[in-house]
Amino acid sequence: MIENESISPELVQRYPWLPSLKRIYYDISNQDPLEFTKNLLNQENLELVDRLLDFFMATFNNVEYIKNYKFDETNIDLYILLRIILFVLNIDPITNRIANLYSKIQYNELINENDFNLYKIFQDLDLDVKYYQIPIQYRIKKVKDQTEILKTNYRIHYVDYLKLSSKLRDEYRKLINVPISEGYVFISKRGLVRLLQEYIREKFLEIKERDNESAESLKSQLKTVDEFNKIYNRIKDEWDLIKEEFDYSINLDLIKGENVSDLFPPCVKNILTEAREGQNLSHNERLFLTFFLHSLEYPVEKIVNIFSTLPDFDREKTTYQVEFAKKKGYTPHSCQTLKSLNLCKAVKYKDDLCLNGYYSKKLEEEKKIRHPLFYVQFQQYRVSKQDNEES
Ligand code: SF4
Repeated sequence: MIENESISPELVQRYPWLPSLKRIYYDISNQDPLEFTKNLLNQENLELVDRLLDFFMATFNNVEYIKNYKFDETNIDLYILLRIILFVLNIDPITNRIANLYSKIQYNELINENDFNLYKIFQDLDLDVKYYQIPIQYRIKKVKDQTEILKTNYRIHYVDYLKLSSKLRDEYRKLINVPISEGYVFISKRGLVRLLQEYIREKFLEIKERDNESAESLKSQLKTVDEFNKIYNRIKDEWDLIKEEFDYSINLDLIKGENVSDLFPPCVKNILTEAREGQNLSHNERLFLTFFLHSLEYPVEKIVNIFSTLPDFDREKTTYQVEFAKKKGYTPHSCQTLKSLNLCKAVKYKDDLCLNGYYSKKLEEEKKIRHPLFYVQFQQYRVSKQDNEES
């Protein structure tokens, strides 16, 4: 058992989103945002400004990590200033992407953390996590004649598990699908750190709940600080330049030289929008999108790039999975399956073809759309018919 003593300042520097920030770095964290920014930027801290701008530039350029990221004391100032800027910028796609990037950087650090420090972090977050020095067995897996004994060092109370995993929509994470005993879920270190990553991501996403009036009022006060003004304008100018490209960075018009992205059904458009906004995608959404784009012979690299905005993106792993799916030649899900998975978005998009079907001349009857690929084919047929009539 690990002793219940307070967390070290070094850990808080590495992970400034921890509740103990308020206690250990009381002077910094409780300052009024205007005073904090003034004090910080008046020190002509060029390194801090560079590190801050690195974050935004990495986000704008779709980079998934920051080289040589430092987890020193400045990390605290950086975290607070980053939140202040996102609050006054008031641009949700930027907040989403910074949330993803920041939480990914933290994930990579947390996964290498020793058990003692991890346990301290759980305690600080008031999470009911049990740690076992000797791994405990929770399942015996039998595949053909192979037997695997599954063990872990960790268990988490189901209430905390639900709290942390509520935004992760994968089936396998649901409480009915995880090993649980006496109210505690058996979970691997990787699984726990992934939940922490989600917690960190949410800390940023909560900035979007801002009240616009307060954001505007703080912005006008901050803009009286010269150094802040320079940083703000630099970020805003970069954003204005890249905004359009950013909106359409998922370029889906590359199918056999034809522009068919406009012809995608609502179920696909919805997943693409979620990815573009940096929202998390469920396992089923990722699979369906991959199979769908493979069917349209979309290049592997382009598919992988779509996923690059996701919080848990790992380029090597994703490329392997996308290539594997291509080799296997899986067919995308049918409308019926998508409906059962709650991925059909016909109603949300009020799509006439999906909702009401079409008239089949051959069969002389009204038919329903049964497959998203047929939706694309049918829309292509409509467009080509229209073109022929106009020419
Ligand atoms: S009806 Fe089919 S194609 Fe249309 S949104 Fe639903 S699942 Fe997609």
